[in-house]
Amino acid sequence: MKTDILIVGSGCSGLYAALHLPADKQITIITKADLESSDSFLAQGGICMLRDERDYDNYYRDTMKAGHYENNPESVDIMIRESQRVIADLISYGVDFEREADGSLAFTKEGAHSEKRILFHEDITGREITSKLLERVRERPNVTLLEYTTMVDLIEEKNVCYGAVLRMQDDSLETIEAKFTILACGGIGGLYRHSTNFRHLTGDALAISIRHGIKLENVNYVQIHPTTFYTENEEERSFLISESVRGEGALLLNKNMERFVDELQPRDVVTKAILAQMEKDGTDHVWEDLRPIPKDELHSHFPNIVAYCREHGYDPETECIPVVPAQHYFMGGVKVNSDSATSMKQLYAIGETACNGVHGKNRLASNSLLESLVFAGRATTDVILHYASVKENPELFKKVRLEKYQDREAFGKENSDLVLKAISQAEWIMEEEAILNSEGSME
Ligand SMILES: Cc1cc2nc3c(=O)[nH]c(=O)nc-3n(C[C@H](O)[C@H](O)[C@H](O)COP(=O)(O)OP(=O)(O)OC[C@H]3O[C@@H](n4cnc5c(N)ncnc54)[C@H](O)[C@@H]3O)c2cc1C
Repeated sequence: MKTDILIVGSGCSGLYAALHLPADKQITIITKADLESSDSFLAQGGICMLRDERDYDNYYRDTMKAGHYENNPESVDIMIRESQRVIADLISYGVDFEREADGSLAFTKEGAHSEKRILFHEDITGREITSKLLERVRERPNVTLLEYTTMVDLIEEKNVCYGAVLRMQDDSLETIEAKFTILACGGIGGLYRHSTNFRHLTGDALAISIRHGIKLENVNYVQIHPTTFYTENEEERSFLISESVRGEGALLLNKNMERFVDELQPRDVVTKAILAQMEKDGTDHVWEDLRPIPKDELHSHFPNIVAYCREHGYDPETECIPVVPAQHYFMGGVKVNSDSATSMKQLYAIGETACNGVHGKNRLASNSLLESLVFAGRATTDVILHYASVKENPELFKKVRLEKYQDREAFGKENSDLVLKAISQAEWIMEEEAILNSEGSME
């Protein structure tokens, strides 16, 4: 197969990139599962936007503070500055955000935000955004969408990417030549037993990057979401109880139904407090009380959360629901610059797969959809800028040995092991550095 630009992943970042590439280029988007099975469809809470200049400093500070000031300041600035343009784009694609009675955009708040600056659509903002992006992409004759098609390797020589090896829906293996490849493969939740992510998101782009010496960054920065619905059943995917419910007044309670934490602190702080409380109480979960949220608000803003809880035996209108932390988001990833270019030529990474440092050590709620879109747009600008100087290497494709990818199970296991090992090694190095620093400071 041959294409101009290969986009690996059909979440919000991959789709937005496709919409920003020129109509005269052939674009191929592949996805490991069906088109609706991406985390982008699961996003509940919303998407941030700089409301006006007066909020710039606060928004910047909230993002940096949540990220423990390890964020890349340039990336944070870019994300905030470009937010209004991206939201205008989404509205032009037909995305329907909640409005006030006067027709202006309605904003909500989540943990660690000092102001209301989050746009939402009920509690299914990700579905609203991503389904509209998908609708627009489907209208583009220059875009081919391939479901159940998995990237198993990149084809590169001397640090230049020329395309990929794909496992097709019928399990056959094929190569695809591409002038540019954009990795938009999402997170790593599938590597964890308890995660809010789709199970097929297993950090494939990271494993492949490790094999090819493509630079990674902050791979041990894994975010645990403080509140997912607790069930004794071994669930496939943990159901998220969005942070917005705490933004709107929900409380966290221990086994004696007492508050034990300021619910609006950053995610990692709230997660630590919950885990400590569970240990102290000897319980498998804590309680979340949604009753402080006015009934109208509960039903209009969070209809899916209410429905899910009821289906699972709890009525949040009249009783507390059990919640527990679970793996949720990956702040680290394939290292990219502010144009989403990786350390390999003709290869870009966007969305949760990429690390441009915007989130630092911990992501501020509702910054992820925005960051994914802003930096997807920037990748496409850079692709266009470098299009004329692209290198091709058809000879290389004749040398690719597809048999080595035949054993799907073994290959998948090897990939998972590679990523988990990289995460634990980075964790170990960070702990060693902390010990050395504390020894140094004692001298
Ligand atoms: C439950 C939940 C709630 C969330 N709520 C919010 C929120 O309110 N606000 C917010 O900003 N963020 C939220 N997030 C985070 C946000 O949804 C994600 O970070 C964002 O959607 C990631 O988009 P993406 O395009 O990078 O990846 P995804 O949307 O995850 O898409 C990844 C794509 O890559 C494909 N893929 C993966 N590996 C391969 C491969 N080897 N070959 C081919 N295709 C592959 C997948 O099939 C999929 O199509 C939430 C996440 C979850 C899980």
